Amino acid sequence: MIEVSKKCIGCTKCVPVCPFAAINMIDKKAVMNEACTLCGACVQVCPVQAITITREEASAKDFSGYRGVWVYVQLDEAGEKGHAKKIKPVTFELLSAGRRLADELKEDLCAVVLTDKNHGYEKDLGAYGADKVYMVEHDELFEYNTDIFSTVIVGLVNRHKPSAMLYGATIQGRDLAPRVASTLYVGLTADCTALAIKDGLLLQSRPAFGGNIMADILAPNSRPQMSTVRPNVMKMAEPVLGRTAVVVRESAKLDKSLRRVKVLERKLDHGAGAVKIENANIIVSGGRGMKTREKFKQLEELSKLLGGVVGASRAAVDLGFKEKTHQVGQSGTTVSPKLYLSFGISGAVQHIVGMKASDVIISVNKDPNAPIFNVAKYGIVGDAHEIVPKLIEALRKN
Ligand SMILES: Cc1cc2nc3c(=O)[nH]c(=O)nc-3n(C[C@H](O)[C@H](O)[C@H](O)COP(=O)(O)OP(=O)(O)OC[C@H]3O[C@@H](n4cnc5c(N)ncnc54)[C@H](O)[C@@H]3O)c2cc1C
Repeated sequence: MIEVSKKCIGCTKCVPVCPFAAINMIDKKAVMNEACTLCGACVQVCPVQAITITREEASAKDFSGYRGVWVYVQLDEAGEKGHAKKIKPVTFELLSAGRRLADELKEDLCAVVLTDKNHGYEKDLGAYGADKVYMVEHDELFEYNTDIFSTVIVGLVNRHKPSAMLYGATIQGRDLAPRVASTLYVGLTADCTALAIKDGLLLQSRPAFGGNIMADILAPNSRPQMSTVRPNVMKMAEPVLGRTAVVVRESAKLDKSLRRVKVLERKLDHGAGAVKIENANIIVSGGRGMKTREKFKQLEELSKLLGGVVGASRAAVDLGFKEKTHQVGQSGTTVSPKLYLSFGISGAVQHIVGMKASDVIISVNKDPNAPIFNVAKYGIVGDAHEIVPKLIEALRKN
C-alpha cells in the first residue's frame, strides 16, 4: 500500500520520476492512481519523506497468480548509444536452465530486455528457449543504471507477477538483483550453483561455510523467487535456430532525475581486448607450488604457446604471482574452458568449485594424494619446475 502523508508540500518532484504516470497533483498534494506499481521511485525523490510504501509481511499466501520463469537479459556495456549490443553468454546459460525449470512448472520462460533500441534480440533469446520477451525500449536505457533499471524491473514484476526470476552473478546482476529484491521485499539467493524444482518451489543450491557444505534454499513466502547464478556454472543448451519468442512491448516513462549516478567517463582497462578468463577455451593455471613470481611467469609463456589465458589459485594471487582478476574459484571467477591445466595447485574445495566444469582437466602436482587429482582427467605426479620448461620446449619445436 502507498500513502502520501500531510507532510507533502506539493513540490511535484515525484511526478516526472514516476515511470508509470501514476501520480497526479490534486489540491497541491500527490495522489497515486491505479497505474502505480509500488516501484518506489517517488519515495526516493520526495524531499520531505511524505510518501511511504507498506509491504505485506511474508506469510504462506496463495501465489497461484504468479506464473512464469524470468531471465534478466544482460547486454554488453561497451558500444555506442543506439548500436546493437551483444547479449552476454550468461543470459543464454540462464535461459537453458530456466527452460528446464519452466517446463517442469508448466509455465512460460520469459526474457526481460531493457534497451534503448531493440536490434532483434528476440531471435537469439527464442533460439535459447524463451517463449516471450518483455521488451522495454527507452532512451534512458542506453546504459546500465541501478535506479533506472531496478525501477523498470520492479514495475514489470508487479504488473506481470512471475514466479521466479534469474540474474547472472555478474557485476551488473549483483548490483541489480539485490536492489530489486529489497524494493519488492522478497528473498534473493546469490551465486547459486544448481537450480531445481521441489514441490513447485525453486530449490536454490549454493556453497556455504567457505564451500564446505551445500545449502539448499527455498523461498516459500514471497514471489518472485530470485537467484543469481555465476557465468559458466549452468551448461548452455544448443540453440534451436528459427525458434523465436513472442515480443511483448512494455512502455516506461523514465525521467533523467531518477538517475542519481551519472557516468562521466569510461576508461578501458589495459587488459581490454584480451580474452577474459571466463571466456577462455584454454586456461593454464598455477598455484603456490610454482614457488616464485619468476617461475610462475613461465606459465605465461606456456599459455601463449597454447593460445590460452593464465589462471591462478588464491594462494598464488595472495603471493602476488598474478592479479586477482585471474583467480579461479569461489571468491574468484568460475570457468569452464575446454582445457584446464593446473601446476602446483592442491585442489582445495574453493578452487575446485570454480573449475570442475572444465571439459578436460590436466593436473601436475608432486603430491600423489593432492585432491586436485580427484577431478583431473589426466594427473601427472611430478615437479612442475621440470615439466613446464619441457612442455614449452616441445611446443616451441612445433
Ligand atoms: C572463503 C574462502 C574462499 C576461497 N576462495 C578461493 C578461490 O576463489 N580460489 C582458490 O584457489 N582458493 C580459494 N580459497 C583458498 C583455498 O582454501 C586454498 O587455500 C587455496 O586454493 C590453495 O592454493 P594452492 O593450491 O595454490 O596452494 P596449496 O594448497 O598450498 O597447494 C600447493 C600445492 O602445490 C604442490 N606443489 C608444491 N611444489 C610443487 C612442485 N614443485 N611441483 C608440483 N606441485 C608442487 C603441493 O603438493 C600442493 O598440493 C578460499 C578460501 C576461503 C576460506
